[in-house]
Amino acid sequence: MAPPNSSNTIDFDAAKLQRLGYSSKRKQSLQPLTLAQLRQHLNLQLQTSLDAERTLNLFFSEVQRLVALDGLSYQHNISDLNLEFGQAAGNAASYRLSHEGEYLGELIFRRKLRFSEEELHQLEALLGSLLYPLRNALLYRTAIQNALRDPLTNTGNRIAMEQMLHREVDMARRNLQPLSLLMLDLDHFKQINDNHGHGVGDEVLKAVATTIKAQLRNVDMIFRYGGEEFLILLSGTGRDASAMVGERLRHSVEQLQYINQGQPLALSISLGGASLLPGESDESLLRRADNALYISKRDGRNRLSMAG
Ligand code: GH3
Ligand code: MG
Ligand code: MG
Repeated sequence: MAPPNSSNTIDFDAAKLQRLGYSSKRKQSLQPLTLAQLRQHLNLQLQTSLDAERTLNLFFSEVQRLVALDGLSYQHNISDLNLEFGQAAGNAASYRLSHEGEYLGELIFRRKLRFSEEELHQLEALLGSLLYPLRNALLYRTAIQNALRDPLTNTGNRIAMEQMLHREVDMARRNLQPLSLLMLDLDHFKQINDNHGHGVGDEVLKAVATTIKAQLRNVDMIFRYGGEEFLILLSGTGRDASAMVGERLRHSVEQLQYINQGQPLALSISLGGASLLPGESDESLLRRADNALYISKRDGRNRLSMAG
C-alpha cells in the first residue's frame, strides 16, 4: 500500500513531483473555475498583498475552486514562518519550493481523501502562480525584519522598541493585564573598550545579549535601547515576577564566562524595573524604569532596583 503522505520537491525551473491518491468529490464555497481560468485569476489576486500569511491564505481558498482541500501548511524557518490554514487531515502532498536555487519554503496540501494524479498535476500547475507573489512577500518580510533589528546583537532596534512598547501598553490597558519593563545597562563597559579594544567590546555585547535571550520566554521581547543598554518587555508579567526575571538576568551575566586572550573578563549589569500603572503612558513607564536603573548604578552596580 502506498504511504499516506507524498513528499515532493518542486523546482519551478524543472518542475518534478511524485504523486499518489484517488479522486474525490469537491466541496467549495467559491465559484468553480477551470485550471486556465484559475491560474489567470490567481496571477491577479496574489499580486494584491505583500504579506506572506495573507498571500497563502488567499491561495488556500482560491485553489479550492478547482481542487478540494482540508488544510494547507507552510513553513519557512529562515523567515520564522510556520503557518496552518484549515484543518489537519490524513493525506498530504508536500512540496519543497525553490526558485533558481533560492529556497522558498515547504508547502503541504492536506485532505482526508487522497489526491488523484490529475489533482496533483493541477496543484502543481497552480503552485506556479504562487511563486513570484510568495518570493516577493518573503523579500518584503526580510526587509521589514532587517529594518527592525539591531544587526550586532540580533535584538530589536529602537524603532521596533517604540512600536512594540506602544502596542503592548495599549493591549495591557485594554485587557487589564500586567506589563513590566526591565532596562539594563552593562557596568563599566567603557573600561572593556579601553582595556581590550572596541572589537572585544562588540563581542561582549553579543555574548551578553545571547545570555539574556537564553533566559527569556518566547513572548518576552528584547531591544537594544542604546550603545550598551537593553530594554526587555515582559507582557502579562507583574512587579514581583518581573523582579524575579531581572534577578535571574543579573545572575546569568555575573556567571557568564567570557574569556579574552585566556583571561576571563568580569562582567555585570545593572537593572531598573517598572510595572505599568493604571492609565500610565509609555513614556512614563520608560522613565520610571530608567530612574530605577539610575538608582542601581548609584548604589554600586550589579544590582536590580524596582520602581515604587
Ligand atoms: P556605567 O557602569 O556607569 O554604565 O559605565 P559605562 O562605562 O558602562 O558607561 P559609559 O556610558 O561611560 O560608557 C558606555 C560605553 O559604551 C561608551 C561607548 O563607547 C560604548 N559603546 C556604545 N556602543 C558600543 C558598541 O556598539 N560597541 C562597543 N564596543 N562599545 C560601545
Ligand atoms: Mg554602562
Ligand atoms: Mg549606558
